[in-house]
Amino acid sequence: MASTVTLEKTTTILSDDAGAVGSPKTTMRSRLLMKKGAAGGAKAKGRCCGHRCELVSYDKLPEFLKHNEFIVHHYRSEWPIKEALLSAFSIHNETINVWTHLIGFFVFLAFAVCAATVVPAEYESPHMATTGLGNITGNAVVLRSYYSADGAILASTMKAFRNVSVVETETATAAAVLSAAGGRVARWPFYAYLCGAMFCLLMSSACHLLACHSEHASYVFLRLDYAGITGLIVTSFYPLVYYTFLCNPFYQAVYLGFITVSGAAAVAVSLLPVFERPELRWARAALFACMGMSGLVPILHKLLVFGDRPEALLTTGYEMAMGAFYLAGVVVYATRVPERWMPGRFDLAGHSHQLFHVLVIAGAYAHYLAGLVYLGWRDMEGC
Ligand SMILES: [Zn+2]
Repeated sequence: MASTVTLEKTTTILSDDAGAVGSPKTTMRSRLLMKKGAAGGAKAKGRCCGHRCELVSYDKLPEFLKHNEFIVHHYRSEWPIKEALLSAFSIHNETINVWTHLIGFFVFLAFAVCAATVVPAEYESPHMATTGLGNITGNAVVLRSYYSADGAILASTMKAFRNVSVVETETATAAAVLSAAGGRVARWPFYAYLCGAMFCLLMSSACHLLACHSEHASYVFLRLDYAGITGLIVTSFYPLVYYTFLCNPFYQAVYLGFITVSGAAAVAVSLLPVFERPELRWARAALFACMGMSGLVPILHKLLVFGDRPEALLTTGYEMAMGAFYLAGVVVYATRVPERWMPGRFDLAGHSHQLFHVLVIAGAYAHYLAGLVYLGWRDMEGC
């Protein structure tokens, strides 16, 4: 009992450089931790006691947490899951990595909500007007008129509907008519991209927060992180390919099939335990870079077919900006600049992975802007 009281008094959150190695304070705490473990059977694993955990330096990490020797201090090592979760609100060398992508996730969530609520209203109103003419003996009579962008009437239908299912059939037919006449184009490729970006950002954030828990957690979360990156790359192709080749289902199928199969293969390869080894950093970067670079083929194809269209040029500009951001991110990630120049100096802020995260968000945002241009283009023009 007495030892427990003493223990509570001496445990504090310490970074490894807050107390010199071998100082009386450090020695005392270690001894007490061992005593408590022996007496109560409690685990003193991962330098945690109760809900207090301490940060350690690179050389004290288990092998599975050693990813970057140029980041020297402020590591969480084998923390309990609850403490790892709560560490989102404390300072360590992953805090900024967690928050850059968590904030990015909420920004893209806001984009998705806006796309679902604001964008359809803007594009729908110039093209369609529906008027209910009456309700005679329980049957609805509906007049629908379809307009082109300049206000010319394209078609009108007047129908009497006996029940809701007929109305739904008519609505589907109307959507097809409207699409062929230059109405609202399918939204799913745009939403697929937004979901891909959100999944990538959320998995990355979770990985940075929780991979420190255990070797198993590290394996699982790193795979989810790789799957997230793959998902972002694959879904980035969807708006580009779907809207560019809206009138050519063959090329749509070829490009979408290619990137989806490549993505599945990349996820399969990333499941191999060897994939996360630090010395394979360049191989990982190269795999994701190659997948991204294959996007050049449909982009060049787009310029060949639609090179005289301002929408094609504008979207290509955004896609080039996205490529530049991602490429810079891959280079920073693989070279580990700037921390390799001054190891230990950028542990908390400014290290390569944080820069990589910001560049990923910038690239994803540029592609989102391209997606809006595609929607506007195909809504106005259809096929
Ligand atoms: Zn990351």
